[in-house]
Amino acid sequence: MGIGEVTEQLDWNGKKVTVAGLGVSGIPAARVLHGLGAVVTVVNDGDDERSRAQAAELEAEGITVRLGDGATLPSGTELIVTTPGWRPDKPLFTAAAEAGVEIWGDVELAWRLRGPDAAPWLAVTGTNGKTTTVRMLASILEAAGLRTAAVGNIGVSLLDAVLGEERYDVLAVELSSYQLHWAPSVAAHSAAVLNLAPDHLDWHGSMEAYAADKGRIYEGNRIACVYNVADKATEDLVVEADVEEGCRAIGFTLGTPGPSQLGVVEGILVDRAFVENRQKNAQELAEVSDVQPPAPHNIANALAAAALARAFGVDAKAVRDGLKAFRPDPHRIELVEEVQGVTYVDDSKATNTHAAEASLAAYDPIVWIAGGLAKGATFDELVEKSAKRLRGAVLIGADRALIREALTRHAPEVPVVDLDRTDTGAMSEAVREAARMARPGDTVLLAPACASMDMFTNYNKRGEAFADAVRALAATGDA
Ligand code: ADP
Repeated sequence: MGIGEVTEQLDWNGKKVTVAGLGVSGIPAARVLHGLGAVVTVVNDGDDERSRAQAAELEAEGITVRLGDGATLPSGTELIVTTPGWRPDKPLFTAAAEAGVEIWGDVELAWRLRGPDAAPWLAVTGTNGKTTTVRMLASILEAAGLRTAAVGNIGVSLLDAVLGEERYDVLAVELSSYQLHWAPSVAAHSAAVLNLAPDHLDWHGSMEAYAADKGRIYEGNRIACVYNVADKATEDLVVEADVEEGCRAIGFTLGTPGPSQLGVVEGILVDRAFVENRQKNAQELAEVSDVQPPAPHNIANALAAAALARAFGVDAKAVRDGLKAFRPDPHRIELVEEVQGVTYVDDSKATNTHAAEASLAAYDPIVWIAGGLAKGATFDELVEKSAKRLRGAVLIGADRALIREALTRHAPEVPVVDLDRTDTGAMSEAVREAARMARPGDTVLLAPACASMDMFTNYNKRGEAFADAVRALAATGDA
């Protein structure tokens, strides 16, 4: 189906649309649909002061809002547009399924509303590394002189990107598993699944369901499905996907690449996929040291970004320039300072064990600061894999006992400081304790493997508390 046909087919005038959830995606969706002539009802579970104020604004514009009841399907609903975070097992959706009503998320809505000359999407998902990869990709596309933006689950809404004034040649799109669940017809130019580890299983119901939703990103791809050679589950998703004729499977690997892969040879990122005669030839793209930080998992992110850019026809020089220009977002393996020969690194964004494992693999020896809210995770595998690199561990937060027990089981020789405090000074004490254990040449790494909300507003605040303590240590010799 051509893009033009999709747009023409939709006649919004008088169409009864229920928007599920007031919030960052619901409110703009309701406004856009109302503007197109749809009869919009917003339903919301909450009925607090904030939602009442938001509802009053929408009501004044002619949009109906029903507060305190997000479960019942308004009669006559022809389509639901949902906030991506709403769980699929909600009664509203069961009722919709029984009534044969389609459900779209914010991404599907943007996809259906994009114009006939809309920019193609290069899409990225995965358990970890999405934001980094999408930003690297946007940096490469910019270096190639293309008009682009990093959008989706990354701050800039797709709806704004698709309907705004700005004209784009191509979009670098981050998609979460929730967004993909509610995006039945999105078809990217090319897409990548970076990795797959258990996460958000309470929402999806099972690992299979989670993987299947991630796999949606490959459906309908035209040019390339990019997968992680080291993570077979991602390749399996490519095999299962229904793609356009001629679409290629492209692997990325930290090892020597085979044909139709991107990989690393002697410190150089090389492409054996988008070259003439890929049986014999390879194209140099960049050096490992061009990627910041040059940790193994981040080189993997760079290769995935490069694969998508190359699928779009970007030349090797732009890949190198774009990777060189890229700077990671804060709190993602961020070098804070070196104090008395010890390097302090803030990876507060490592909020699950899969992410923490990647950053623990990047340093040796490490004094590890970890802990917080475990979200049902177990730590045995993480500790087992990382034990030999640990000089010591400082544990903080509500679920620190789970990590302590894993350390006792798998790394009994590693000294552990267990901090039984959650006040604002706790992070300073953690840094002081870590500094005491560390020797010159070591890295003190904040990679909590847990969410932050037991002690901090979010992972940003946790990272800032760490960095402040490190700077105090550098200035005064005391955190
Ligand atoms: P996301 O957007 O998927 O949450 P980010 O790019 O924000 O991913 O990175 C989140 C954290 O995940 C980083 O701080 C790092 O610890 C870890 N990480 C990044 N890339 C990878 C990867 N390819 N594999 C494993 N962990 C990663």
